[in-house]
Amino acid sequence: MLDKVIIANRGEIALRILRACRELGIKTVAVHSQVDRDLLHVRLADEAVCIGPNASKDSYLNIPSLISAGEVTDAVAIHPGYGFLAENADFAEQVENSGFVFIGPRADTIRLMGDKVSAIEAMKKAGVPTVPGSDGPLTDDNQRTMRIAREIGYPVIIKAAAGGGGRGMRVVHTEASLISSMHVTQNEAKAAFGDDTVYLEKYLENPRHVEVQVLADGQGNAIHLFDRDCSMQRRHQKVVEEAPAPHIDEAARARVLKSCVDACIEIGYRGAGTFEFLYEDGGFYFIEMNTRVQVEHPVTEMVTGVDIVKEQLKIASGHPLSIKQEDVKLNGHAFECRINAEDPKTFLPSPGKVNYFHAPGGLGVRVDSHLYSGYTVPPYYDSLIAKLITHGSDRETALTRMECALEEMVIDGIRTNIPLQQEICRDANFGKGGVNIHYLEKKLGL
Ligand code: ADP
Repeated sequence: MLDKVIIANRGEIALRILRACRELGIKTVAVHSQVDRDLLHVRLADEAVCIGPNASKDSYLNIPSLISAGEVTDAVAIHPGYGFLAENADFAEQVENSGFVFIGPRADTIRLMGDKVSAIEAMKKAGVPTVPGSDGPLTDDNQRTMRIAREIGYPVIIKAAAGGGGRGMRVVHTEASLISSMHVTQNEAKAAFGDDTVYLEKYLENPRHVEVQVLADGQGNAIHLFDRDCSMQRRHQKVVEEAPAPHIDEAARARVLKSCVDACIEIGYRGAGTFEFLYEDGGFYFIEMNTRVQVEHPVTEMVTGVDIVKEQLKIASGHPLSIKQEDVKLNGHAFECRINAEDPKTFLPSPGKVNYFHAPGGLGVRVDSHLYSGYTVPPYYDSLIAKLITHGSDRETALTRMECALEEMVIDGIRTNIPLQQEICRDANFGKGGVNIHYLEKKLGL
């Protein structure tokens, strides 16, 4: 097993990684910005190193600082968590070139999946269903571009190959605006990502977001841990997630799960990963792969009993996968509500001191949070302060449990989106399950 791990992240995920390390007897090093010295995992870690000032670019995104922290503490591996440098292929490469284990896929896999055009190509080759599209980048042959769009049928969406975080895409409804929209997207992509490669695909009008969790050891073994539905989104940010995705055609599900496992083996995938799909009219359409642990991984842990972060650490230690596909059984249903430090109506961030924090409890209730009474939420980072997860023998039980747990949760001193989450849990259509990705924004009148 790895001897000592740098946790190159903050907040709830840093604490989540610390807990997994402890269970495996792995020593931990917390690295943190100046303001973050009071984070819960910093207090609990075996060692802590301040890696820079508060701005992320000077601390959590500062590659030389992170690598130096590894060197001075004699750590052997770096866990990137999610966000920050987790999907930065250059970081993964520098970590490995400096003699550390990067807890994630190889740098070339991250690079392959980071470029959406090459990712889609690799997925097609492996038999994963993709959105009908341009089969590669658009060129300056406008006749060709118009022909492709006509064949696919409007509306289409133009997307930047290097895009991410919901940026670098544009929906086109008619041929008249196709070429000008392509140019605008190219210019935006150039400015935002330094790469003006764009491609085109069919715009699905009312899809759901359904994703598949995988684990692979890079030694020829891969499994899936079933699926999650993350359709409740605002501005492409997930708000509530659940596992398994409700009301999915069983045959389509079986096919897509198998194709994800096949793809992992085909590309030599290593670690935990997620295949994201749009799901519409019984069909799955691949949009991208996340080559890291995701915020919503706990819902999968609750319904499969597999500790995804511990598995990441075991894989990074060089162990072959110890779980066989036939041993992964679905047990009940789970929800996760993301609790953010923000105004529930205006969504403006609400950092500040938490005078009092009370976490809900009871059967089937899990709270992944770095909060404690007296902790001050700094204004510099993501507003996620807690993940409330509930599990039950069926969807209704898990959802009722969520309503009760939200009722019990107290975060005093700052504003949070708990009232919004309560409203979502009471929503009749959400209660039935299977709403599409536009549902929440429509409900909010956006
Ligand atoms: P990013 O990497 O920026 O998150 P994605 O490719 O995952 O980009 O797409 C983000 C979101 O944009 C999707 O969750 C979906 O809401 C929307 N989207 C992307 N592609 C399509 C498409 N072909 N049809 C409809 N919506 C799409």
